[in-house]
Parts: sequence; C-alpha cells; structure tokens
Amino acid sequence: MIIDVARLHHPVTALGPGTRLGIWTQGCTLACPGCLSRDTWESGPEYAVDVRTVLDWCDARPPAEVDGVSISGGEPSQQPHALAELLKGLAERRERHGWDLLCWTGLEEELFANRCPDAYALLDGLVTGPYVAARAGGGRWRGSANQRLVPLTGLGQERYGQWAEDEPQDGHPAELQFQVETDRMFLIGVPRPGDPARVQRALAAQGITMDGVTWRP
Ligand code: SF4
Repeated sequence: MIIDVARLHHPVTALGPGTRLGIWTQGCTLACPGCLSRDTWESGPEYAVDVRTVLDWCDARPPAEVDGVSISGGEPSQQPHALAELLKGLAERRERHGWDLLCWTGLEEELFANRCPDAYALLDGLVTGPYVAARAGGGRWRGSANQRLVPLTGLGQERYGQWAEDEPQDGHPAELQFQVETDRMFLIGVPRPGDPARVQRALAAQGITMDGVTWRP
C-alpha cells in the first residue's frame, strides 16, 4: 500500500504529549485561507512511499524514546485506505510499546469518521476542523479556536483529556521546534498568530533570509 508522505521526523516534542514520531502526509485540497503548510497541498508520485517503509522507519527509532505518534498533513483523510493501513501497523506497535496515536484533520469529527472509518476506529485522538485565520490561536496543539481536540479512547483521554476543553485565552504559549537542513528549515508545532513573521524577522536580523515560505503563495 502506497501513502504520499511529506516528511517524517523524530523526536517531535511540539505536536502532542511527550516525545513522538511525526508523520506528515502529502496532499490537501481543502485550501484553508492562511494555511501555514502550503507545501503539503500538491500530490504526485514523487511523494509516494510504501506504508511498510514508514513502519520500518518507526521501528528504527528507539521505542523508549517514543511516547506516541502524531499524524498530520496535508490532509490525512484524503488517503483513507493508506491511512488505515498505516494505523493498523501503528496500532500493533501501540500494543507493544504503549504509543498513543493522534491525528490532525481539517474535517469535523463526523465527516472524518465517515470518510475514514477504519482509521477513525484505530486512533486515540483527533484534532478536528479547518484552520480559520480569523479565529487564529486555538487551544493547545490547535491553530484556531474552532478546532477541537477529541480523545477517542481511554489512552487518549489519559494523554490529551486535560487539554480537550482548554480555550485559546488560557494562554498556552506556542510550542515550536525547528528542523534545519542544508537549505531548508521546517517548523514543527502549531504557531500562534504572528509567530512565523517573528521567526522570519529574527533570522533576518542574523543575516539569514528566506527565499520562500510555506505560508504564502
Ligand atoms: S490547514 Fe491543514 S487542512 Fe487546511 S489547507 Fe492547510 S494542510 Fe490543508
């Protein structure tokens, strides 16, 4: 089974509780105005990876250094069969290692469950809803105030339940990570309004200019 993947990263500490594996799917047609990840919109054969390869990558991380898996995008629900296959493999590892499985979607919960019933049944939690720039600044791990963090299992309730009801005004600071490669920098986490521009200005002040950013066309 093939899945289109934007990137894989470990350790992820800014997207879900604890230390995590991060899997970003490639491809999203929702086109939320103000999306910070426009680089994940297009799909194409260059992003195709065998699900088995992704699971092998997960297995190559020391299990003791993984608390859970965060699946984001792109829009994971737009690859329902591949997502289910991936989660089936991850659920086996949850049994062995105690990992929780948390997924972000631009869909509301009911629509996600209808489109991806097999994946939905295997998740411990779901962050739901489109990014709405006019309501930017959501609760923990959410980009805008309309988005919900929904624990789906007892494990999910244990790991994320305390943040499910928090409000933007609770004032959680953004948790951000930066992964620097030769000529690219990836921002991991959910920035607050103005954070990307602040980062850009801070880098510019040190003489580092960006040729392009993923939050502008
Ligand atoms: S915010 Fe997420 S769902 Fe919305 S366009 Fe961007 S990648 Fe797609």
